[in-house]
Amino acid sequence: MIELRTPSEIEAMRPAGRFVAEVLATLRDDTKVGTNLLAIDARAHEMIRKAGAESCYIDYHPSFGASPFGKVICTSINDAVLHGLPHDYALRDGDLVSLDFAVSVDGWVADSAVSFVVGTPRDEDLALIDTTERALDAAIGAATAGARIGDISYAIAQVAHADGYSINTDFGGHGVGRVMHGDPHVPNDGKPNRGYPLRPGLVVALEPWFLQTTDELVTDPDGWTLRSVDGSRGAHAEHTVAITADGPIVLTDRSFLGVD
Ligand code: MG
Repeated sequence: MIELRTPSEIEAMRPAGRFVAEVLATLRDDTKVGTNLLAIDARAHEMIRKAGAESCYIDYHPSFGASPFGKVICTSINDAVLHGLPHDYALRDGDLVSLDFAVSVDGWVADSAVSFVVGTPRDEDLALIDTTERALDAAIGAATAGARIGDISYAIAQVAHADGYSINTDFGGHGVGRVMHGDPHVPNDGKPNRGYPLRPGLVVALEPWFLQTTDELVTDPDGWTLRSVDGSRGAHAEHTVAITADGPIVLTDRSFLGVD
């Protein structure tokens, strides 16, 4: 079921969005060559505790999961792109890091992801991250009242295809509200002027992610981490966006912190 939020409910979602933005900006700043993925999770957990927020991940146990996720952030490294389960691994020079983080504050959820490189970057990794971020910008630009879900999907796919990346539509954007995953699904590829109409009050997480040379994923033995089938690297960019009569509001925007 698709739920629409009143303007005052969208205002009430702002603290969750700001907190998620702060956590991702802080973690990105703190994450260096040598940082352990378990330390990233521990830092995020500490920030959640101090803020009185509630993790959307720690007890997350969908039907495909062998057990609850047990951590508060997804850390996907290099050829891992989604749902990376933090484990005992110290980052190496040139690693491509994707952090995906969702919490509930005052009963409202915000969900956001960012990719970056620690140490010396490879040109092809920076290019992939740049395409993913531009696809997210295009998706946000298409998230206007009167358009349709397919317009967002099409905008994402246009950016990916122009840069030669293929798209996996098994995992994409989703409605956000009292819980992390709601309707509608927002695929990362689709046809313009198709699908659910974008009405003021619709709040969605938009999340393009691409792999360098494939669109196929395999699941790690941990039951969570999704990795490219060919070992090529992936990147992910996500914001929680409210559609309003005055245009999209990026609830997880980090620009108030002076960072992108
Ligand atoms: Mg997310």
